[in-house]
Amino acid sequence: MTRIAIIGGGISGLAAAFQIEQQKHAGQDVEYTLYESSPRLGGVLRTEKIDGCVVEAGPDSFVTEKPWAAELARLVGLGDQLIGSNDADRKTYILTRGRLVEMPDGLMFMVPTKILPTGLSPLFSWSTKLRMSRELFHPPRAVDHDESVADFVERHYGREMVDRLADPLLSGVYGGESASLSVRAVLPRFAEMERTHGSLGRAMLAARKKMKSTGPKKPAPTLFTSLRNGMQHLAETVVSQLTPSSLLTNTTVQAIQAEAGGWVVSAGLQSDHFDGVVIALPGSAAASVLRLASSELAAELAAVQYTPSITVGLGYGHDVRQSLPPGFGFLVPRSEGKQLLAATFVHNKFPHRAPDDRALLRCFFAGSTAEKVWPMTDDQIIGIVRNELQQIVGLRAEPHFARVYKWQSAMAQYGVGHLERLERIERLRKQLPGLTLAGNAYRGIGVPDCVRSGREAAKQLLSVAAPAA
Ligand SMILES: Cc1cc2nc3c(=O)[nH]c(=O)nc-3n(C[C@H](O)[C@H](O)[C@H](O)COP(=O)(O)OP(=O)(O)OC[C@H]3O[C@@H](n4cnc5c(N)ncnc54)[C@H](O)[C@@H]3O)c2cc1C
Repeated sequence: MTRIAIIGGGISGLAAAFQIEQQKHAGQDVEYTLYESSPRLGGVLRTEKIDGCVVEAGPDSFVTEKPWAAELARLVGLGDQLIGSNDADRKTYILTRGRLVEMPDGLMFMVPTKILPTGLSPLFSWSTKLRMSRELFHPPRAVDHDESVADFVERHYGREMVDRLADPLLSGVYGGESASLSVRAVLPRFAEMERTHGSLGRAMLAARKKMKSTGPKKPAPTLFTSLRNGMQHLAETVVSQLTPSSLLTNTTVQAIQAEAGGWVVSAGLQSDHFDGVVIALPGSAAASVLRLASSELAAELAAVQYTPSITVGLGYGHDVRQSLPPGFGFLVPRSEGKQLLAATFVHNKFPHRAPDDRALLRCFFAGSTAEKVWPMTDDQIIGIVRNELQQIVGLRAEPHFARVYKWQSAMAQYGVGHLERLERIERLRKQLPGLTLAGNAYRGIGVPDCVRSGREAAKQLLSVAAPAA
């Protein structure tokens, strides 16, 4: 019998456990123990039902383009619970000199693909618009080194594009600043477009043309997918299909060490022997568990930076729903001098998440602004949110409820040189047979990538692990 330890009970660890269960049902002789330090499984996937609203404390959805989370949902029987974002109402605003300006139609991240809406948009100055048209003539460029997203975007479209779009869009995903994020790790498609086409605008137009010419048109999938009753439902349903005696909550792993052709996992006063270990933890926690097994690997993992983030859920009545602008919400460039980075009008993005007579808002702080407000009380944080919502959308009403959720070191920052770091991590990992890594420190911080990494890590171990003596 092969024995596997999974360390971490977030969605990455749960996906690894689910994979093992599947292989067990298919006849493989395997058992596992999942260690989770907190009392609950699911990690940052946490949902509360308040006043008829589905309030997400952590992730609220995932990009549909990456199939792995929806695939897992279908495998555990939640196919009919998957919901798409309400893209008919998809409008995002950018706070620009104190007022909300709609992102022009046809903008693919920051690449304009429709001339008229971008040309007429007050979001950009004339000099940026001129740069957009000049960008179409950039020749292909082979770059032999990584660079920051800010440098990359500035080279193509200028500083204003970094400030107005690239920075706020990436802050909404990674919490960090475009000046420190790696273009190769975070926007690999754009780096490749530059290599092949030079101009991102030309590359995007060529890709669209190719898509149009290939066969009959399927209806476009929605941009985001989620679960009707919230993201926690996915974690809970996966848990319901795992072996209860394999799940150890309130159990923190202190260290793992290679021993007798396998691994010894030490948690409190207990230690147990396994053939293989999946470490499904954020970088710094993985580093701490691995420090005795490989100080070099631990140092590389600890070097993947994380930032804190804070989400605030606010519920209002029908009048507020009427008064807010249509669309998914707004992003706030740092140059606007606010603390908030973004707000989502959840009742528009996912109408199933709030009764028709309610408005549900989700506000987001990350990176340096989250650090700044972190020590404050919930009431003080709610005060900041309300004050800024009043300034930005004129919202004065008293919320029916307000909840603050703080996540320490939850968002990985793929800094410049991240891919080279991953190569070093992989080389060091291979020196430790029977060890695999999953989670958001590596190749994607979103839920789909975490699910993929967890299942792959388990599969990899089961394809090579030898049974314990
Ligand atoms: C506020 C927020 C919003 C987000 N929004 C989105 C979104 O909209 N869409 C999207 O796709 N992604 C989003 N993400 C990212 C995504 O949710 C996470 O990257 C992903 O869920 C991480 O899952 P994980 O299992 O790797 O890690 P975690 O969920 O962090 O789980 C790790 C688990 O390990 C446990 N643990 C730690 N140390 C030990 C130890 N020594 N021993 C045992 N257990 C330990 C922890 O208690 C935790 O439960 C968001 C993240 C945050 C924080």
